Amino acid sequence: MFSNLGLLTPARCPDPSCGRPRCFFSHAEASSSRITLPPRTDVPSTIRQPVKRRADDNEEDRIRGIVKRVTSNGSSDIKKTSSPRKPIVKSDVKPDSTPVPQTKQPAAETRPTTTSSSLSNTVNTSRPPTLPINLKPSPHPRPDRQKGLNALYTQYSKLYKPILHLSPELAHTSAFAQEAETASVSSNVRIYKTAIHQAAVSISRRPPPDSVDHPSVGTVKESRAAFELAEKEKASKLSRHKIEQYCLPLDQFDIWRYPNPNDPDLLSSDIAGSKPDGEGEEHTCSRCKVPFVVSSKDIEGRIGECKYHYGRPVPERIEGRRKWIYTCCAKERGEQGCQDYIHVFSHGDDDRELAKRVGYKTVEDIVGKKGGLGKWTNVVAMDCEMIQTTAGVTLGRVTIVDENGETLLDELVRQTVPVLDVNTRFSGVTSDQLDTAIMDLPAVRAAACMFIGPDTIIVGHGLENDLRALRLLHSKIIDTAVVFPHDKGPPFRRALRDIVKEKLGHFIQDRTSDLGHSSAVDAKSTLEVLKWKVREDNE
Ligand SMILES: [Zn+2]
Ligand SMILES: [Zn+2]
Ligand SMILES: [Zn+2]
Repeated sequence: MFSNLGLLTPARCPDPSCGRPRCFFSHAEASSSRITLPPRTDVPSTIRQPVKRRADDNEEDRIRGIVKRVTSNGSSDIKKTSSPRKPIVKSDVKPDSTPVPQTKQPAAETRPTTTSSSLSNTVNTSRPPTLPINLKPSPHPRPDRQKGLNALYTQYSKLYKPILHLSPELAHTSAFAQEAETASVSSNVRIYKTAIHQAAVSISRRPPPDSVDHPSVGTVKESRAAFELAEKEKASKLSRHKIEQYCLPLDQFDIWRYPNPNDPDLLSSDIAGSKPDGEGEEHTCSRCKVPFVVSSKDIEGRIGECKYHYGRPVPERIEGRRKWIYTCCAKERGEQGCQDYIHVFSHGDDDRELAKRVGYKTVEDIVGKKGGLGKWTNVVAMDCEMIQTTAGVTLGRVTIVDENGETLLDELVRQTVPVLDVNTRFSGVTSDQLDTAIMDLPAVRAAACMFIGPDTIIVGHGLENDLRALRLLHSKIIDTAVVFPHDKGPPFRRALRDIVKEKLGHFIQDRTSDLGHSSAVDAKSTLEVLKWKVREDNE
């Protein structure tokens, strides 16, 4: 009934208790209790779009944002000076204040060379600044303060040379602000003079600004905060150019068992979806390795037909002998399985067989070459949970987070063939939860492609399984199992929790733990270890 919901828009959300962080359905008041579906369109056009920045957003924009944030909660007036047309509003510069004879003229060469028609009506930017008559009382003699102001103005004029034409009063504004700041924090004139000198030196060492919002603009305090913020922002962002080098090269897709994104057979409509259900087929049980006939009849009554250890055998030294012991029950390898199951099967990485269940699609197939959305997320991390059905291993849940670890999509998948085992121990998904699922696999895949565009980098651990489960062909992927390879090389992979423990020093839930695990935590963890790698490689 809801099979195309991921492609429909704007449809009212079919989930009455919807708590999706970014639900793409409408939540307007229902006019009737019946769910009405608008006609199908190929690409959703009015769904909520991710408000992420694109790759072409430049550093300047980011820093501009940072500086605005800094100045909006400080006392600075950088914001006001950003617009050259606005007169300066400065608390200690009264509009009717008259200039006082100056004790010293700054060198002529340091004066702003550009005169502008938008000169402030309170500051003559062609002349060095003069302290206002009604100065706030301070322990420092006026001539010393004027000297200090001149020294600061000299440095600011030099520093701002490249941008003074944008904001002619900027050197005055900064000099006034810095002088006032220094005067207010210095308890005597000796300290004041030293502080002015230090400020002047630090201003002279700043990199030249290329805009009025550059972190070099402002008082010592403001500039330092702006640079620190810019650095932090840089360090915490997984910007595209820093991680592109870790993308899996196409010629290694086969080695790491990734579905070939350019295999025309996988997209062929001849096989796609030709055998959706495996009911009645003969397969070998992927748990106990016994041949069986796939059946959805009397599942409850058959539990126990398959005995299996869900844990893995690990070597242990017992009474001087090395033994392989299962982590699930501490029995020795070879002993009968400790858990009762029913037989299940997997097509593994046989993409032809998988395509017969549900066909593959490329991201372009879903969103178009250029796409109708245009605002895809640059980098996402993905983690999928699998369950067992009569069609083999099947997608049960998909979680996608953005580069900051914020959840973009976390959706259970409505099954279209009988479920054999929800695999709660590993998937964290329960039967009751699965019953509430609304979108089937193609719909969930379409929803995922609201965030994943043709150029989006998908980060994950052993992502080939996730892409297979989602039947999505994509060529821009970063696999943390490849970035942190196993000593023995492929097909061996290190567990994500081991990499996290080694590199980040904290623990994430073991998949075989009875507490289950969170796919959002796993997805975020792949981003965290990737950030660790970026830092490591850039030091
Ligand atoms: Zn909703
Ligand atoms: Zn066991
Ligand atoms: Zn079995």
